[in-house]
Amino acid sequence: MGVQVKGLPGALVEGCVFCAISVGRAPAEIVCQETGALAFLDIHPVAPGHTLVIPRRHADSIAELDEEAAAAVMRLATRMARALYRALQPDGLTLLQNDGRAAGQEVPHFHLHLIPRWYGDGLRMGRGLLRRPAESPAEIGRRIRAALGG
Ligand code: AMP
Ligand code: ZN
Repeated sequence: MGVQVKGLPGALVEGCVFCAISVGRAPAEIVCQETGALAFLDIHPVAPGHTLVIPRRHADSIAELDEEAAAAVMRLATRMARALYRALQPDGLTLLQNDGRAAGQEVPHFHLHLIPRWYGDGLRMGRGLLRRPAESPAEIGRRIRAALGG
């Protein structure tokens, strides 16, 4: 995380391009602005209308989103999904979030991708990635439930 930008409310991180977009200091094709979240077009779209939804306040990861930011992001994502269906008539949408560098996250400010999909568009995400974990589903489930309680 960088330093806080002086004189601006909330957690805005200097050097973060999405924080800069959030406060109008970097250009973006903004499609919707709400108090807690913002939607703009991806600069390198994998499909027409490829949209990113971000919380206005900086959070690197989904684990850092507070409830208010999470709700703001999901509320705007549903609103954007309806708009994308109306505007572009895709056959479907892929919602995607890369969390952490290991997952392919390049911009360390949480963002949800909304990718319009059409039959035959040739995009393949996560195909052929089926792996058999070393632990049983019961053991993995037990560990996750324990973490929720902690
Ligand atoms: P991820 O790999 O999930 O972190 O995705 C980062 C996404 O942000 C990529 O799809 C980039 O094309 C997009 N991106 C990076 N910089 C900008 C920018 N200045 N404006 C819009 N989209 C951007
Ligand atoms: Zn940021």
